[in-house]
Amino acid sequence: MRLPLDSYRFTNPFAAGGRDDRAATVTLMRRVGIAMYGIGGLMVVLAILTGGGLSGTRAPLVLGIVAAVEWAYCLYFLIDRDPPALALLASPVVGILCVGVASSVVEIASRPTPLYYLWALVSAAFFLRARAVALVFAFFLATFTVVLVAFVPDAEAVGWWPDVVGVTALVTVLVYLLKVQLLRAMTNLRRAALTDTLTDVPNRAAFEHALDDAIIHAALQDEQCAVLSVDIDDFKQVNDRFGHAAGDEALRRIAATIGTATGDRGIHARIGGEEFAVVLPNTDLGAGHRFGEVLRAAVEREMADFHVPLTVSVGVAAFPEAGRTPSSVLLGSDRALYAAKNAGRNRVISLRGSTALKLAA
Ligand code: GH3
Ligand code: MG
Ligand code: MG
Repeated sequence: MRLPLDSYRFTNPFAAGGRDDRAATVTLMRRVGIAMYGIGGLMVVLAILTGGGLSGTRAPLVLGIVAAVEWAYCLYFLIDRDPPALALLASPVVGILCVGVASSVVEIASRPTPLYYLWALVSAAFFLRARAVALVFAFFLATFTVVLVAFVPDAEAVGWWPDVVGVTALVTVLVYLLKVQLLRAMTNLRRAALTDTLTDVPNRAAFEHALDDAIIHAALQDEQCAVLSVDIDDFKQVNDRFGHAAGDEALRRIAATIGTATGDRGIHARIGGEEFAVVLPNTDLGAGHRFGEVLRAAVEREMADFHVPLTVSVGVAAFPEAGRTPSSVLLGSDRALYAAKNAGRNRVISLRGSTALKLAA
């Protein structure tokens, strides 16, 4: 599992590597944007109404325009539930411009408007990748410098430059670094939650996610999708005769063998004590059955030299033949597995149709 920093334009530790990563991140960015622009517009209107610290007669007009822009952006985020990446990327830039224009008509000595740059910079540090954060910060530096030198009424306001730049730079870097640490921690936690500790292959939760995704994809693309239930034959005797450690070693070796056989074709997982499952996207029942045979033979070969030769039984079912839901397809492959056990073990049986069990070709 890669760090989401590498895989996605926006970063959000709370959705790191999740299945709905993008949707959750866009929703959070929109909400932050709505709050920032909604409250920002309100603050500007309050500044106009109280009038303190404003310089010049055109100040209310300029601030009125800033409030209108802020509320327009707020309204846009309220209406468009899936704004394009450009609108989200533009959000801190628009925020910086609003603060720049607003601070050109206030007396900075009595109203420290440049503080509001932090809103845009902190949200950029949290949601954007390093290069975009650097670009936003550069844009802030340029805006702040030009406005301070050329437009701010108080001449002594130039003295604010080092303090504001020092504080904003530190806060931006800190928030960015904290975000990266949080992303790492969340990614590791998620990986741990989806990995079986004994065999280091995906666990049942990971398999359920993969199966859901594969079936949704198959339904949308009008494809088939095969599911294999794999159970070690007479495994209990390994523990009984050679001890639990030998049983664990067998589980690790068989998990690795299934993983090597599956490769990039699908997702394999340990879904129970000595049970594994494989989901193969874009695979029909016949191809799933042939793969089951490959798997069975690979385990037989790999475990031939074990304390006692071990084999697996395999049940195969396919979407949509065995059912249209993930649980019904898995139930189908379990029933086929049960039939394989009853038929004598060390074999592959596929579920044809929804009731009849028979060996596929
Ligand atoms: P069948 O061919 O019908 O599947 O027989 P079986 O002996 O494989 O099935 P059974 O369900 O009777 O026994 C499964 C055994 O798997 C019992 C349990 O002790 C063992 N087992 C489950 N999880 C682990 C594990 O993590 N480590 C070890 N060493 N053994 C495990
Ligand atoms: Mg078993
Ligand atoms: Mg079992």
